[in-house]
Amino acid sequence: MPTSTTRRRFLTAAALGAAAGSGVLTTPTAHAAAPGTGARPSRVPLTREEHRAVVIGSGFGGGVSALRLAQAGVPVTVLERGRRWITGPNVDTYATVSHPDRRLLWYGTTPEAVRPVQRLLGRPLDLDPYVGLVEPVLGDSLLALCAAGVGGGSLVYQGMTLQPSREVFETWLPGELDYGLLDREYYPRVARMLDVSTAPDELLATPTYRATRIFRDRAERRGFPVEKVPQPVDWNYPLAETRGEMRPAYTSGDTLFGVNNGGKHTVDLTYLAQAEATGRCQVLTQHQVTSVARGTGGRWTVHVDRIDDAGRVLEQRIITTKALVMAAGSMNTTRLLVRAAALGDIPGLPGEVGQGFGTNGDRIYLWSDLLEDFGPRQGSPIAYIAKTWDDPRTASTTCQFSLPPLYGVDTRSTLVLAMAVSPDRGRWTYSGLTDTVNMHFPVAGDRAVGLLAAQRVQAMAGGLGTIAEFNLAENITVHPLGGACMGPVTDPYGRVHDQPGLYVLDGALIPGTTGACNPSMTIAAVAEHALDTIVAQDVGTTV
Ligand SMILES: Cc1cc2nc3c(=O)[nH]c(=O)nc-3n(C[C@H](O)[C@H](O)[C@H](O)COP(=O)(O)OP(=O)(O)OC[C@H]3O[C@@H](n4cnc5c(N)ncnc54)[C@H](O)[C@@H]3O)c2cc1C
Repeated sequence: MPTSTTRRRFLTAAALGAAAGSGVLTTPTAHAAAPGTGARPSRVPLTREEHRAVVIGSGFGGGVSALRLAQAGVPVTVLERGRRWITGPNVDTYATVSHPDRRLLWYGTTPEAVRPVQRLLGRPLDLDPYVGLVEPVLGDSLLALCAAGVGGGSLVYQGMTLQPSREVFETWLPGELDYGLLDREYYPRVARMLDVSTAPDELLATPTYRATRIFRDRAERRGFPVEKVPQPVDWNYPLAETRGEMRPAYTSGDTLFGVNNGGKHTVDLTYLAQAEATGRCQVLTQHQVTSVARGTGGRWTVHVDRIDDAGRVLEQRIITTKALVMAAGSMNTTRLLVRAAALGDIPGLPGEVGQGFGTNGDRIYLWSDLLEDFGPRQGSPIAYIAKTWDDPRTASTTCQFSLPPLYGVDTRSTLVLAMAVSPDRGRWTYSGLTDTVNMHFPVAGDRAVGLLAAQRVQAMAGGLGTIAEFNLAENITVHPLGGACMGPVTDPYGRVHDQPGLYVLDGALIPGTTGACNPSMTIAAVAEHALDTIVAQDVGTTV
């Protein structure tokens, strides 16, 4: 995101130039501050280009959009701020929780936003600027995490691929969506694309999955319906670890932010790989979009910084396009649109842009029990869930996840995540003083659902287990949703009202909850649904 008024003035002047022509033009020009680094190369080139369709972001929404447009014959350019992360047996691509070096954090993350993550991980983090994997964003009363890199959140996610029930979906998700259609066609399509399956018993019987088994047994004994959760994982990888054929990653639980050994069917290896294989999709990495605007002649104008590994600006590019897909994730799509609305760069944007923002009701608990041996190393990913979905108004899903390996010490503890439907919503506002877009969430937001979820977790843990709710000390979510919601801001296909050629096709579309489920499955299914219609109706007109 832009950080200075200097940048704003520069970009406005450049935008005026861009409106005069298309094609590629390189102009050496004065440089504006590189966000987060303080480093200022004196001159960087400015390039102007015209592209047929531009997708901002390469996560679930971006991956689906790129593939389906490319398959429909549309040349697509994906602008991704992060780098490619190449995994494979025994590689050292990602920083791990045991060794959280600079590869973990997106450059420019403020120390205030880093502190709660350090507390959660129990370790200091390296703040040396890098185009790292995780961006913590701090707002009033909430810290939200998102990812950066080709594949977006699929790189860091636990892989839980969950579909809500009809009752929960129809109670909480936009009425514009037809659950029956998603259930018949689009959820199964996403499951096929990501090749999901559940963890084999052979793996879960091995020593480091003890905490997983304790959760399953306790929940079952206390009458909670327990089932395995589908994951986009090739289980031969963790099984190879158990035979000593690969260094431990899954089996040691050191996968909270990326699995070095690979075997996870992330968006870069599924949707984007297929899109690139068409020959009509290019993914430009380390291309950070700083602003979007409506241009002339029905075109959209996208201002982009090409950055190096430390976030220094190497080149500024102004790209004009007929079709612009916002898929930068809930927080970053919203930030770009709220700023564009405030500065008048997109006149007539719906007034509800920035609203309907929520946490998916995420609550994290530390479960401790002196009589239980959860183990100093706890295998991942999450294998079992307990659903409490009978009443859609109070639905929640609970699961155990591995406590990151903490110096090899057995703390007799593990972690539990609950996702509970919550009506509480925040919003984003623009400050002209700082040229920033800021997140606001109610101080007591989600506390009521957190209390109910805590009671359920406590009931599962039993009398001797203690439950400490992390969110009461530090309200944190890894599932930010909403900000440019279906209904007030877009139609059911992500088309922004009265803005032909502008689409929102990521988590920003979904108002605050995906119905007691993690969001990726629903984000991808909603995008798949939208793209079928966009391909049928818009290609050749607005695309
Ligand atoms: C630790 C963690 C664990 C999770 N576990 C699960 C799970 O088990 N199951 C599940 O369903 N969900 C999980 N999630 C959430 C899931 O990852 C997100 O809901 C999902 O990725 C959102 O998809 P999206 O398409 O909206 O955006 P994203 O996947 O976030 O993709 C957005 C992309 O846009 C890029 N971008 C952002 N701003 C710009 C810009 N200005 N210019 C260019 N590019 C930009 C980003 O770098 C990113 O690659 C988890 C998230 C985290 C952080």
